[in-house]
Amino acid sequence: MLGSMMNVPLNIADVLKYAADVHPTGEIVSVRTEGDIHRTTYKDTLGRVSQLAHALTAQGVRVGDRIATLAWNGYRHFELYYAISGIGAVCHTINPRLSAEQMSYIISHAEDTMLFVDTTFVPIVAALRAQWPAGLKIVVMTDRAHMPGGDDLCYEELLDGQATTFDWPVLDENTASGLCYTSGTTGNPKGTLYSHRSTVLHAFMEAVSLPNVLQPGRRILPVVPLFHVNAWGLPYAAPLTGASLVFPGAALDGENLFRLMDTEQVYSAWGVPTVWLGLQGEIKKQGRLPQGLADVVIGGSAAPASMIRGFEAQGVNVCHAWGMTEMSPIGTTGNLPPHLEGLSLDDKLALKSKQGRRTCLVDLKIVDEDGKRLPHDGVAAGELYVRGPAITAGYYKNDDANAGAFDREGWFGTGDIATIDADGFLAITDRAKDLIKSGGEWISSIDLENVVMAHPGVANCAVIALPHPKWDERPLMIVVPAGESRPEVSELMTLLSEHFAKWQLPDDVVFVGELPLTATGKVSKLTLRTQFAHHVLPDMEQD
Ligand code: ADP
Repeated sequence: MLGSMMNVPLNIADVLKYAADVHPTGEIVSVRTEGDIHRTTYKDTLGRVSQLAHALTAQGVRVGDRIATLAWNGYRHFELYYAISGIGAVCHTINPRLSAEQMSYIISHAEDTMLFVDTTFVPIVAALRAQWPAGLKIVVMTDRAHMPGGDDLCYEELLDGQATTFDWPVLDENTASGLCYTSGTTGNPKGTLYSHRSTVLHAFMEAVSLPNVLQPGRRILPVVPLFHVNAWGLPYAAPLTGASLVFPGAALDGENLFRLMDTEQVYSAWGVPTVWLGLQGEIKKQGRLPQGLADVVIGGSAAPASMIRGFEAQGVNVCHAWGMTEMSPIGTTGNLPPHLEGLSLDDKLALKSKQGRRTCLVDLKIVDEDGKRLPHDGVAAGELYVRGPAITAGYYKNDDANAGAFDREGWFGTGDIATIDADGFLAITDRAKDLIKSGGEWISSIDLENVVMAHPGVANCAVIALPHPKWDERPLMIVVPAGESRPEVSELMTLLSEHFAKWQLPDDVVFVGELPLTATGKVSKLTLRTQFAHHVLPDMEQD
């Protein structure tokens, strides 16, 4: 028997319409490419999004067309999110840090018909457009006064004179709304095609998981980019809950972020660990926190325990989150439940170093090599599989990638190795491809990095596997010193010996000025493995 309730589809435009009605003064503050700060509200944004929807329609955009963006975090990019999806087209965000080859691959794979680009990225377009489809229309996201030469379209001119209301179509909730490609650390990038239903549900799931931050009046700064995994869902969850957004534009170094957070009284800031290394450096330099900062959300790669301690010791709540492009992206969040809030700082830190508990409507399981479920005892480690309504059911036009991505029950394989404890806390041990297999035993690169990062002389660190004739693979530790002088290798080894067996210790430590980053700001172990492929490890006995 079916229930007899209205079958009103979940549509993205309704999120912004709700925000304009109920949170009309909720703000969007943006550092613009034009060099100034721009302020608007959800109410006024709905007006401009309506103008943009008319403009897109006038350009001939139809339901299902893929419309690409190449842009920083700012109000115009936010407007594109809603206007493109709102008329039934697909907002395809492109990561400007991808290689030229990857960018051209995804533009032709997605068959984009229009590309909206910030002035910063006009040179990339100029260099590559000859390789792109001739019919691709380019719109520069600025006003006439700031337009570069050439005959590309001007964003503000497209909006000028358009009506500030729009008759939004009621779309089937499974209509595609957004497209995001993973950064393709192996092979070509793979596309996740989001729907209105998955996007709206994800916004609710996030709001339920992070009520301390997602509420009216809170000011949230997404350092995590709109050009990758929907800025972790914030463009939807913030207006839904009435939280304001502070978009940082292009300047993401510690000094600029500190200044913006300070002047805009940012309550919560979201980003990958490399960004917070920069901010923590600036906090140390200034001897104070940015005014109003009470919370950081860290995800994308493992947050080192020393980073969590640094924030928590200054009274800033750290929420360690885990997810992936294929999950919209949030899978787990790490705020502690009330009965664990009273723990000592050390016990709290041990829990917060884990990646948190599942978001509602995300199911997790860990399995062994035969696909058998492992217990949630915090000890058994296995490959993590996920299931839920905001998780991909298959990569966009990519049968090869889909062939191995799901198990027999239809769960998605994350490629991460994890434990889950009795309280439901997930701990990512490693990406399967980053684990080090030594003499038949596994060594976690994340665990080694975490311990060494606590040394005051270490700014950053990565551990990779190098092939070894006897042991299969052995760990090499690559360290960025914090100051002018390097920490003694013997000191690092002593520190590691307190936590690891002798056979788990790195065979060698090398020092470098900086670590290579992926297009999403994570340490690129793939690049490091290539860079150190010929590094000769000193011989070491395994006991
Ligand atoms: P890509 O970097 O390939 O574009 P994503 O940004 O979707 O892909 O990254 C997803 C992966 O990032 C996860 O599968 C996991 O390996 C890693 N990751 C994300 N958050 C965390 C975290 N908090 N701790 C450890 N690893 C994480």
